[in-house]
Amino acid sequence: MPYTANYPATVQEILRPGMKYKGDALRALKAFRRAKAWQGDLGERQEKFMTLHRALCGVYGLNTMLEFNNNSEEPGTSGNSYFDPANDRIVLQGKLSVVTYLHELGHARGWDERYACIWSVNLFARIFPRSFERCNFIGHMVVAGSPASESLSPTNGMGLLDLLNLPGAVEALANAGAS
Ligand SMILES: [Zn+2]
Repeated sequence: MPYTANYPATVQEILRPGMKYKGDALRALKAFRRAKAWQGDLGERQEKFMTLHRALCGVYGLNTMLEFNNNSEEPGTSGNSYFDPANDRIVLQGKLSVVTYLHELGHARGWDERYACIWSVNLFARIFPRSFERCNFIGHMVVAGSPASESLSPTNGMGLLDLLNLPGAVEALANAGAS
């Protein structure tokens, strides 16, 4: 039976400003923010994601593995990242994206596309409100705002907004012209 993705049609419809999160999860995300997750070379940024992942696995009682397959600084979507339930493993590909990571963690917690989007987008918006305000929404995707954004690091050009891309981006764009 083919897998049917139930992505929300738009980001706007899933925004829930009052959504509740565990305090320890919020603290882990705030530590990630303080660590300036978008700064450093790729290895340093991956380590910050791993630290966040270990903390969130502790909060939610998960043993999920986190693997990286983004050994490139080239721009590229994170939309090919995935959760592999058979091996309880998240694989992040393309740009390191915190929204994508949280989305895949939502799958690790057993959720479908819609709720994984709800949980990850609202959590991101809560922790990174100014970045979120600058984002554009295309369908269910959160995509980067202006590349001239002040959150871009002058040293490596990899800004927080580069971290944004929801899974499904590639498919959604590919399907945009199809009925
Ligand atoms: Zn998904």
